[in-house]
Amino acid sequence: MPSSTPLDILEINKEQLVTVLEQQGIEKYRADQILKWVYFRQADTFDAMTDLGVKVRNILSRQFSILRLSRVHCETSRDGTRKYLFRLQDGKHIESVLMQEKSHDTLCISSQVGCGQRCKFCLTGAGGFERNLTRGEMVAQVRDIMNDLESPNRLTNIVFMGMGEPLANYDNLIGALQTITDNETGLRFASRRVTVSTAGWVPKLGELGRDTKVNLAISLNATDNQTRSMLMPINRKYPIEKLLEACGRYILPPGRRITFEYILIKGVNDSAEDAQRLVRLLRPIKAKINLIPLNPHEGIDWLRPEASVIQRFQEVLYQHNYTAIIRYSKGEDISAACGQLKARSSRLSAREPV
Ligand code: SAH
Repeated sequence: MPSSTPLDILEINKEQLVTVLEQQGIEKYRADQILKWVYFRQADTFDAMTDLGVKVRNILSRQFSILRLSRVHCETSRDGTRKYLFRLQDGKHIESVLMQEKSHDTLCISSQVGCGQRCKFCLTGAGGFERNLTRGEMVAQVRDIMNDLESPNRLTNIVFMGMGEPLANYDNLIGALQTITDNETGLRFASRRVTVSTAGWVPKLGELGRDTKVNLAISLNATDNQTRSMLMPINRKYPIEKLLEACGRYILPPGRRITFEYILIKGVNDSAEDAQRLVRLLRPIKAKINLIPLNPHEGIDWLRPEASVIQRFQEVLYQHNYTAIIRYSKGEDISAACGQLKARSSRLSAREPV
């Protein structure tokens, strides 16, 4: 690590920090102190770390920076959902969405700029892939938004359901998860309250189960390969059988289930036969199901099914003892809803940070 370019401290883990400290002749126990300043006390500079000597603070200021994302826009929906648009250091934009539940808040974060999966119902996919987010850029979404909240303790859940396919950015994802769930010197989220959602990136599924204890969500969305390949091109590479086989082998912490997300699209995947097929497919797997009525937006011709059709679908799942919750998108009035995340950067980036 060259000493001339400051390294963002959010990009590294404790061991790497210790290595740099030792190279600089700083005691390694200082690492805990420094990371607590960064993650618990939200320090913006090393000078703020008043229990470190001036000499140490100066060395740290030369070696490291502490990333804050530049907030371009923040909008709150009628239902309390809050959408943040951030500009990254290279000028690209990402969005994160804070959702209010009765007892707690959930933050939905992005893992890539854009997305390469090109799912037909998703606006992020329509824009294509730009780049992976770094570990620090994922961590910073959580850290910065916690800093913005009046009651950060209400924020207990993190979902990787924003822009991007998290498993296609595996190493950075794992690094970010490490910091987000580190109880000693990180952001202190319980692993069981963190969920990684994937379109079905099979090669990394097994590793995720071995490397972490977070929750897994699979965007299934169809029960036959023809329909799924039409909706989600990734299915041509990793068809339903391969995906479910990998799910069957997935190492789950005790008492946990894999969540299967199923967008209901009128006349495409919403029949009672689809529901029956879904039951059969998931039989070998410890599963629960989230039904997401399609969130229509400009750019797609499909519609959300009638309420009675959604209920019929749910009923079939109930009859087979599945937990099947209907999740209506939040924040629709501010384009913060599922599949609507696509930074409107040309319009908004011209504004000053707020
Ligand atoms: N790439 C990951 C995470 C991002 S998508 C994945 O595919 O899981 C997060 C969720 O939003 C997925 O379950 C996806 O199916 C859903 N989604 C995308 N577009 C949507 C839309 N128009 N209406 C409802 N849900 C949508």
